[in-house]
Amino acid sequence: MKQRLTILGSTGSIGTSTLDVVARHPDRYEVFALSAATQVDLMLAQCARFRPRYAVMASAEHARQLDEKIKANGLATQVLQAPEALETIASHEQVDAVMAAIVGAAGLAPCLAAARAGKRLLLANKEALVVGGEVFMKAVRDGGATLLPIDSEHSAIFQSLPEDPATWARRVQHVLLTASGGPFRTRDPATLRGVTPDEACAHPNFSMGRKISIDSATMMNKALEVIEARWLFDLTPEQIRVVIHPQQIIHSMVQFRDASVIAQLGTPDMRVPIACGLAWPERVESGAAALDFTQLAALTFEEADARRFPGLHLSWQALAAAPGTTAVLNAANEVAVEAFLQRRIRFDQIHALNLATLEAVQPSNPDTLQALLALDAQARAAARSLVQRFN
Ligand code: NAD
Ligand code: MG
Repeated sequence: MKQRLTILGSTGSIGTSTLDVVARHPDRYEVFALSAATQVDLMLAQCARFRPRYAVMASAEHARQLDEKIKANGLATQVLQAPEALETIASHEQVDAVMAAIVGAAGLAPCLAAARAGKRLLLANKEALVVGGEVFMKAVRDGGATLLPIDSEHSAIFQSLPEDPATWARRVQHVLLTASGGPFRTRDPATLRGVTPDEACAHPNFSMGRKISIDSATMMNKALEVIEARWLFDLTPEQIRVVIHPQQIIHSMVQFRDASVIAQLGTPDMRVPIACGLAWPERVESGAAALDFTQLAALTFEEADARRFPGLHLSWQALAAAPGTTAVLNAANEVAVEAFLQRRIRFDQIHALNLATLEAVQPSNPDTLQALLALDAQARAAARSLVQRFN
């Protein structure tokens, strides 16, 4: 039987890489539904190529534009509109697996819908787990879903851990998340005030969406990944460490009680963790080049400089604070990154805005999707009014 897939965020960096892997295995995978925010023409091309039953766009206007083109091209795809339709395609009874590749908290509701419907959930959308935390993991357990990490670090940890999760707590000492250090790893921190969005988006090894590119430059991406790891693998915050590894060959590691370390290696290509998640526990061709060890230069490691990357430690602080604090941090950071991309705040003000929002918003233990979304909205409003004050 072919696996029927819904791909949320199919026009993005992870979405297009997923379709690249899927296209290599027409005997294994079939696309049931695709979703995107605004990219009508790319969505049309994806519909023509993969013939999904449904395509979901984020606004009525984009849905109307796509529908017109779908009909003009004689395609049978039905066009629907987010946000309701995202939950429909994520939990549809004919869907086996859902790739969650929307960016930001906007992906939380469809992730929860897929989890509750017991789907195989391939999670790239780390913000959904950072916001959802306990509620998200409970939905996975209650729904009997299979949660497979796509973030390369978490895929690496998942591949390095023993297969039986019941043994993790007694065997694992800690996990080591590797970080590239981003484009400003060696830059004088005093000069970071003036960097532009394009400089911050110029990641050394990957071409990614704008949001995660800025998060890599501030290392807020790693902060979100620390929180993501806490929930995915049920670790204490103290069991999660970060080490900078600029070559991005080791994608993360697990250290066991006996001091033995197991790591996962490969070329830095997101098609590897995507193929791993799609086929798990089988292995299929991903399209990525294999490592050539004879050509590898040195693998180096260094500590993250807290002066250059002050945001990294907010992850441990937020995990130690009241439940819901990680949702506030995520909302603040989404608003801050957007404001920086629009040149309304400076690069170094991203961290200042995150700190100020954490101080301004006190969460009250959100334990439902509605409560999480309300907290997210409250934190965004607080962050937006701070943006006004910052400039
Ligand atoms: P991207 O910006 O390239 O793509 C985002 C996708 O989501 C697009 O298809 C866009 O149309 C859709 N989208 C955006 N906002 C939406 C909204 N409000 N409603 C519905 N759809 C919306 O981002 P990306 O780099 O592909 O990242 C996607 C997710 O995967 C992020 O959470 C990111 O942190 C994570 N991730 C990405 C990479 C990477 O290499 N790109 C690696 C690890 C994890
Ligand atoms: Mg990552």
